[in-house]
Amino acid sequence: MARFGMVIDTRRCVGCMDCVVACQTENDVPLGQRRTWVLTEERGTFPNVAIEIRSERCNMCDDPPCVPVCPTGASHVSDFGKLVSITEKDCIKCRLCVKACPYEARFMHRETGYASKCTFCVHRLKQGLERACVAVCPTRAMHFGDLDDPNGRLQQLLAASKHRVLKPEKGTKPRIFYLT
Ligand code: SF4
Repeated sequence: MARFGMVIDTRRCVGCMDCVVACQTENDVPLGQRRTWVLTEERGTFPNVAIEIRSERCNMCDDPPCVPVCPTGASHVSDFGKLVSITEKDCIKCRLCVKACPYEARFMHRETGYASKCTFCVHRLKQGLERACVAVCPTRAMHFGDLDDPNGRLQQLLAASKHRVLKPEKGTKPRIFYLT
């Protein structure tokens, strides 16, 4: 069974926001809310300073704190790609998962009232399509695949380049890796 993840090459990201627009459109995300976002961060110390531009979203953590806090099991790890998922019909809108996520990846959807976040475009994956953000990236900075495939693209990229995850100190074991 696959364990889906991502490798994002920050060296190729130009901050165009195409991924954000594609996600908003594909997933009907209300204006002012977001499932994915792009930020810039200064890294290093003078004189070796660089600006990193980074596309972020739910990290599909291997040890996700948003799952055990859910009182109904609405927030769960699915069989398909081991994706951290939300079953809306079981969501009681308690916000515990929103508070538990150290990446601020979850929010309460303004129109439905349910907890929401990036799904890795699971509806597209099940149709054999690329994820919206990955498909539109003009510099091909984003890669998606099965982290458990030892010969897959993600493992090749990780073996070839320096990389890191966000907030490793939180112990969530993110499945999005950033090449730096
Ligand atoms: Fe849960 Fe947040 Fe990790 Fe996504 S990034 S799996 S919402 S803890």
